[in-house]
Amino acid sequence: MIIKFLGAAREVTGSKHLIITQKNKKILLDCGMYQGKGIETDSLNRDLGFDPQEIDHIILSHAHIDHSGLIPYMYKLGFRGSVICTNATRDLCAILLADSGAIHESDTARFNVKRKKQGLPPIETIYTRKDAVNSMQLFIGVAYDRKFYIDENTKVKFTNSGHMLGSSVVSLEVAETDGVKKIAFTGDIGRNSNKILREPTPFPQADYLITEATYGDRLHKTTKEARDELLHVIKHTCLEKKGKLIIPSFSVGRTQEIVYTMNQMFNDGILPRIDIFVDSPLAVNATEIFRMHPECFNDEILHEMHMDPDPFGFDRLYYVRSVTDSKKINYRSEPCVVISASGMMEAGRVKHHLANTISNFRNSILAVGYCAPRTLGAKILRGDHEVSIHGFKHPVRAEIFRIDSYSGHGDYNEMGEYLDCQIKDRLKKTFIVHGEYEPQQAFKQHLESKGFSNIEIPEKGDWFEL
Ligand SMILES: [Zn+2]
Repeated sequence: MIIKFLGAAREVTGSKHLIITQKNKKILLDCGMYQGKGIETDSLNRDLGFDPQEIDHIILSHAHIDHSGLIPYMYKLGFRGSVICTNATRDLCAILLADSGAIHESDTARFNVKRKKQGLPPIETIYTRKDAVNSMQLFIGVAYDRKFYIDENTKVKFTNSGHMLGSSVVSLEVAETDGVKKIAFTGDIGRNSNKILREPTPFPQADYLITEATYGDRLHKTTKEARDELLHVIKHTCLEKKGKLIIPSFSVGRTQEIVYTMNQMFNDGILPRIDIFVDSPLAVNATEIFRMHPECFNDEILHEMHMDPDPFGFDRLYYVRSVTDSKKINYRSEPCVVISASGMMEAGRVKHHLANTISNFRNSILAVGYCAPRTLGAKILRGDHEVSIHGFKHPVRAEIFRIDSYSGHGDYNEMGEYLDCQIKDRLKKTFIVHGEYEPQQAFKQHLESKGFSNIEIPEKGDWFEL
């Protein structure tokens, strides 16, 4: 068989790896969208590197858009194979892909207004909300830890990777003419310290391992410090400076973790008495999906839910759905916290909140997750004095804070320890994907020091015979 790396190769978005078996079955591991490269992104996304109608199956590690976001585009181009993933991933994709379609529609409309002024013809949106909804009919949800035949020669098993609700390591067993080949694809690797999710579960021995390396050169702070830091930033911004704290966050996962942490602080009586807004219709829907999948929860939250049945709700926490209510937050002069998507600050309502707050020193922005290079989040974090939001320039005067430990990605120690579930001598090759090249090289060295060998860091378009 052949494996071809078509995205998230020496970079962190666009996860897409194509396996072609000896019997010419074409299996795509993830179908992720490129994000955060400005105008380049659109053409990168439209150029898949294969004919979507020839793909038999997409096997999806988890629901994040950089892993799932091109499935509606595949559908639009005629892909009618199966999308196989865990049940929670399927449910999350139902809301995330529809939301992504809606964002593309509005971004394209805005872009076309500019093109019209320049006398240029309009472009077609990559996919619409309707394409996303239609693509959901291709999904097959499978429970964790069950072997599932996707055809007569291929079995798949999903093992919890602890990175987001429903996230998994994908283990494939493919019967080829020269024997069974076992491939494990980690997707994104989570952390033992996730507030809500179970810790990553060991996965079956592979012959070929494909691992992520987002934080291949970093160590996170412990969660206890993160909780203290969050409380410090809230007090500093809302009590001392009497300003607004904007927390750009993914609607799914990170938002629930932050809210759950605040819920614990509220129960402990240490959360300042201020209004907290979760300004994201997606976050409300996502929270309902969280409740439907307790199989993904760790023992601590399950235990706490006996005493506090709603770990995602407390007094003075408001979930905001409507645009009108979202706009009202801008006119408030009282201190408050606004948690809003997207985490990389590239899309969604958070851009409006940033535009309204970033030029006032009383306010603060708290980044709680990874921001890919060239995203607005990355520009703010690297200390740019001026940023462009929706085409207007804004001086950056708000204080910028960052807490990495809410990251859904393990650091190099956590990833390395997780991969210790594999017997190194039995691995024929290890591929490092999903990371910038520098962290990937650092992670390669780390893995070599632990006894892994034959490690490749493929570039986009590289292919290997397995
Ligand atoms: Zn992810």
